[in-house]
Amino acid sequence: MTNGRIRITLDESEMPTHWYNIVADLPTPPPPPLHPGTHQPVGPDDLAPLFPPELIAQEVTAERYVEIPEPVRDVYRQYRPSPLVRARRWEQRLGTSARIYYKYEGVSPAGSHKTNTSVPQVYYNAINGVTRLTTETGAGQWGTALAYACALFGVECEVWQVGASYDTKPQRRTLIEVFGGKVHRSPSTLTGFGKGFDAGHPGSLGIAITEAVELAAQDEATKYALGSVLNHVLLHQSVIGQEAVLQLAKAGESGADHVIGCAGGGSNFAGLAFPFLRERLEGRQAPRITAVEPASCPTLTRGEYRYDFGDTGGMTPLMKMHTLGHDFVPSPIHAGGLRYHAMAPLVSHVVEEGMIDAVALHQSECFETATEFARTEGIVPAPESSHALAQVRRTALAAAEAGEEPVIVVGLSGHGLLELGAYDSFLHGRLGDDPLSDEDLASSLAAVPRIG
Ligand SMILES: *Cc1c(COP(=O)(O)O)cnc(C)c1O
Repeated sequence: MTNGRIRITLDESEMPTHWYNIVADLPTPPPPPLHPGTHQPVGPDDLAPLFPPELIAQEVTAERYVEIPEPVRDVYRQYRPSPLVRARRWEQRLGTSARIYYKYEGVSPAGSHKTNTSVPQVYYNAINGVTRLTTETGAGQWGTALAYACALFGVECEVWQVGASYDTKPQRRTLIEVFGGKVHRSPSTLTGFGKGFDAGHPGSLGIAITEAVELAAQDEATKYALGSVLNHVLLHQSVIGQEAVLQLAKAGESGADHVIGCAGGGSNFAGLAFPFLRERLEGRQAPRITAVEPASCPTLTRGEYRYDFGDTGGMTPLMKMHTLGHDFVPSPIHAGGLRYHAMAPLVSHVVEEGMIDAVALHQSECFETATEFARTEGIVPAPESSHALAQVRRTALAAAEAGEEPVIVVGLSGHGLLELGAYDSFLHGRLGDDPLSDEDLASSLAAVPRIG
């Protein structure tokens, strides 16, 4: 048992000084990204119009640790370490013998883990003289996190928000504006790509990315920022797992038996899981690691592992990843942050290598779990995070059945206080499950380019 402490923090001297890069510890290197035109591996010059040199270097590095610049650590100190909390009341409600710890990223200024990468991304752009950043946002969390970081470093922020979310989540737009960002509904009439769609089209993350990339590529002083998927984003998120490994030890546990996170583009999952995977590779812990995705956007469990574009317009490099097809438009489930057609190449790679597992769950089970969690732990989870919680619930109930006492660590990637409309739908019986049909999947996969 633990020493009875429920909320575990860290001293200043225990905070990570470096980001952890899983690439250094992989048995086989991940396949390189390819140029969308030539299909040759991309070089730094290909990425230079979009990203500053430090981020390009981080995208390709095989170094195990990358130092966190002091100005970034200084912003992290505003809200980190995020707490690791023992979910005692939820455990009691579940009647489980499992010990459940959640790593809560909702304490950040944007209410999710995304600030962990928006801050370094904006910092590196700012020191390179970039004056404007463009980006996409789905549910709005990434736009919020980027706008906040831009406000700190004096950079303009323009956000293409997926149309369906722009129409239904005006408060998200307002929050981005409060932090000083400018928001456009995507598809917009400001880009060549956006003009090709009908007014009122619901949009998708893939379309919004193409629009943001198109504008950044046209202007020297404008660059682009991506909130997930890329190696450098996963690298920045490693502060989550590094802290959690230490906090779990401080709680008196010898290690985790399960590490569980939700996966949209894969960044919060990788941020929590990769430092635990390193513990496992070093033989210090033996956790089973599980990524949880929505059944209506089942990238890891039903997508194909092959080269595809990161965006709908085909402007990004081709990346080897689990994909549903770059023009896949997921059904409008409430976990907006999990509605991406593909998965981070690094997460895809470790799934392909059999190092981690993936499961897909329906949103009704997730909301049911999330309300149970709120009524015991007092936190309203983001709909995305509720996917991880639902898998924890399954694991904890199975443990009770088997008379086992596993230690479960779960990523609570954000709070859901701006997603109350989704909870309202759930509580008043208006929430459906929308499984993806084999026909729809086959037709979107048919559009994936054939490489090699
Ligand atoms: C964006 C978001 C996600 C999904 O993105 P990942 O890159 O997969 O982490 C999950 N949870 C929350 C709260 C988010 O804002």
